[in-house]
Amino acid sequence: MRTVRWALLSTSVNHLLGTPVEIVGSTGQAMGRYRGLVHRGPDGSIIIAVNLNLASTVDEIIAVLAHEVAHIVLNSPDHSREHRATARRIAKTLREEYDEGVRRAHNS
Ligand SMILES: [Zn+2]
Repeated sequence: MRTVRWALLSTSVNHLLGTPVEIVGSTGQAMGRYRGLVHRGPDGSIIIAVNLNLASTVDEIIAVLAHEVAHIVLNSPDHSREHRATARRIAKTLREEYDEGVRRAHNS
């Protein structure tokens, strides 16, 4: 399995949302069956939790991040058709920026 470059994912998520986002990984039971959770504090700070028991590959983590970022972008907890389409578009962007970041790292 390839190493997960968390810094690249973090930079992309910050870029997409236009604000710093804290990404935390959990291996505990608190997240249960949830692959990811998003929390927005009263000060506007955003934390995305990734369930590392259920998401460990780059593709899985990108899917979780895209899902949660779509909730933030749409400001809705709904799993609507719009949410699915938004998450798909965000996942594509995250994947492209991730691959570009990896390429740049290899060429420097
Ligand atoms: Zn959701």
